[in-house]
Amino acid sequence: MPNGRLSATIGGTGQAPGKTDGREAAAIDCEKTGGIIARLRKERGLTQRQLAERLQVTDKAVSKWERGLGCPDVSLLDRLAAELGADLGALLRGGLPSQEKPGGTMKQAKYYVCPVCGEVTVATGGAEVSCCGRKLTALTAQKAGEEERLSVERVEDEWFLTSAHPMTKEHHIAFVAFAAGERLQLIRQYPEWDLQVRIPARGHGMLLWYCTRHGLFYQLL
Ligand SMILES: [Zn+2]
Ligand SMILES: [Zn+2]
Repeated sequence: MPNGRLSATIGGTGQAPGKTDGREAAAIDCEKTGGIIARLRKERGLTQRQLAERLQVTDKAVSKWERGLGCPDVSLLDRLAAELGADLGALLRGGLPSQEKPGGTMKQAKYYVCPVCGEVTVATGGAEVSCCGRKLTALTAQKAGEEERLSVERVEDEWFLTSAHPMTKEHHIAFVAFAAGERLQLIRQYPEWDLQVRIPARGHGMLLWYCTRHGLFYQLL
């Protein structure tokens, strides 16, 4: 995967103001990111091999990331974040969020879905995103109507999201994202599985989801 993708994807996450051209991301710190992968993996009681299996990569790859000898491929990031229960922004910055900055940059994140391979890319700032040889246009989120909203239930310290939305191959929800302040969590969904998502209830934010037929929706949580 060309490096350009990486910078397009992570540009703008938590950098200083005035550097929002999407290039800052070239400065992704593999060492820091590796450190946080190792930490979260251990917290979850996973071995490198177990994490590797879940991501369908080799345990050597995981070991390499954790030693800062390479960064995980962009296409793995959302699954990696989901497996580690981390948010994408934190993973990319190589640090867990310490405080939320005013402005909530993650609420302004843009979402791209490749019409060819279905890969999801999230970017903040004025990034150019392309996949499978074509330039992608950011999705525009529409406010979910009463009957479209995901149903949200608070279960202890988590939001439990469900939906009666179809989950067929042709028409399903492909991802759910929760953006709050500097945090973004993106959870992929797959057809033939009922939509069931749990996210830590860490304050209010914007819930987004992508229907393969009708596009991106949001509701406030
Ligand atoms: Zn693609
Ligand atoms: Zn739909």
